[in-house]
Amino acid sequence: MASERTGAEVVLLMGPPGAGKGTQAAKLAGTRALRKLSTGDMLRSHVAKGTDLGRKAEGIMRAGELVPDDLIIAMVESELAAMKPVRVLLDGFPRTPGQAAALDELLRAQGVALTAAVALEVEEDELVRRLSGRAAEEGRSDDSEDVVRNRMDVYRRQTQPLIDYYGEQGKLHRIDGMGSVDEVSARIDEVLP
Ligand code: AMP
Repeated sequence: MASERTGAEVVLLMGPPGAGKGTQAAKLAGTRALRKLSTGDMLRSHVAKGTDLGRKAEGIMRAGELVPDDLIIAMVESELAAMKPVRVLLDGFPRTPGQAAALDELLRAQGVALTAAVALEVEEDELVRRLSGRAAEEGRSDDSEDVVRNRMDVYRRQTQPLIDYYGEQGKLHRIDGMGSVDEVSARIDEVLP
């Protein structure tokens, strides 16, 4: 409820590349007064600054592979540990079972429960169409066709199993990600507690 938005709240946004995670994350963080934590954005900023982590992550990201769990978990942990109360929208994390287990542990240590996991679902043809548009507009080096195909494959193999994991916990909301940005965000607002 809007009036209660001062306590702990942890929302995860999941979905394949091109599902609209970044756009919806920004909107949702605004409406629910959550801090948006996007591991992809954090990594791109490390790459741009040329930090140690950025140097380790750059080639992996360019190939569309996943950055090792220990590096990602350390990055998220330091952000979450500093939050009181924990009010966060996680965009693009967790992406592996190991990251999901680490998140459970981090939240347990802070005495916080996961509020909801939102999975955006978009047909594959539409994903490819959106990503090739983004490649042209933003020039992201991981949006070229073969890298996109690899990122989708990585998503299917490593991240999709997490959807069942959150389903079993009763925390999962599957959202139709087709349609306009506003249509999709209205669907998300409807299902979140
Ligand atoms: P994104 O902007 O979320 O699509 O992330 C861009 C790239 O950053 C991914 O293709 C991965 O190489 C890397 N990345 C972002 N988040 C994670 C994560 N949670 N675990 C591993 N790699 C990640």
